[in-house]
Amino acid sequence: DLFIKQEELTKLVNKIRPAAKKGRMASYIPALKESNPNDFGCVIYNGTEIIEAGDTDVLFTMQSSSKILSLALALMDQGEDTIFSKVGMEPTGNPFNTVQALEEENPSKPLNPMINAGALVVTSLLAGDTGEEKISRLLGFIRELTGNKTIQVCEKTAASEKKNANLNRSLCYFMKSHGILTGDVETILDAYIRQCSILVSCEDLARIGSIIGNNGKNHKNQKSIIPAHITKIITTFMITCGMYNASGSFAMKAGIPTKSGVSGALLSGLKDGTGIGVYSPPLDSKGNSAAGVPFLEKISDDYNLSIFSTYRNS
Ligand code: GLU
Repeated sequence: DLFIKQEELTKLVNKIRPAAKKGRMASYIPALKESNPNDFGCVIYNGTEIIEAGDTDVLFTMQSSSKILSLALALMDQGEDTIFSKVGMEPTGNPFNTVQALEEENPSKPLNPMINAGALVVTSLLAGDTGEEKISRLLGFIRELTGNKTIQVCEKTAASEKKNANLNRSLCYFMKSHGILTGDVETILDAYIRQCSILVSCEDLARIGSIIGNNGKNHKNQKSIIPAHITKIITTFMITCGMYNASGSFAMKAGIPTKSGVSGALLSGLKDGTGIGVYSPPLDSKGNSAAGVPFLEKISDDYNLSIFSTYRNS
């Protein structure tokens, strides 16, 4: 059984909904400003049961929630040694698009794969001769995880970000000059932006989260889609770096492995194989969904979901 009943979820969504008013829409990607700030939806899925509340029929771009999936695929493609020779494992107190941390590190290795510098390197390491090939492989992977064959890139959002991508572009050139990133910067940037622009629903996020929570296995046939040791790596990054420079407080208050994105997406996977997908676009000062964060903190508190809670299931 799911840990929460339908009526309880509806109540919780309605209760937390007003928190979105305190947030602000992301503006540095112009297309994101066109989302409806009032949308707030949540889907919970555990492999057998699915419940939803709020505005769950909306599609939105994954943005940084895609970073755990590009990392999983890159690890499957290249192995841990190659990936972690180019990207570190340490959390940071700096914002996601930080340039500063790169200069401090020696030899300019990005601190972790969840900040933009690290995610750009990860995307560059996906197998595939062209950016197109890398993204079509990633799309195939996400379609397998969600069981949703219609998942596509929102080219409009991608084009809008591409026009405003000078910070990410400069991160690429910086890393290229230090030999961390190899290949054509525009191609890598383009692939990364298209990855961030993959369109999903709360249900898609919940299905992905449920597989992550199920050690990377498909619930129906127990087929491994993400090897268990890689699932462990991405779950660790969700906890330590998944919520930008609010990861520590979120780990403390919610303790749910989650990756956020500037679209207002939140992708969570609980260790019992339950996935939670949340969407509400206004963001708090750290760039996380302003209603989504208190929602997950409340649901964790009410149902004892923290992976750090010794009382869970006892
Ligand atoms: N495409 C966005 C960027 O790179 C993603 C940021 C995010 O969701 O954190 O700026």
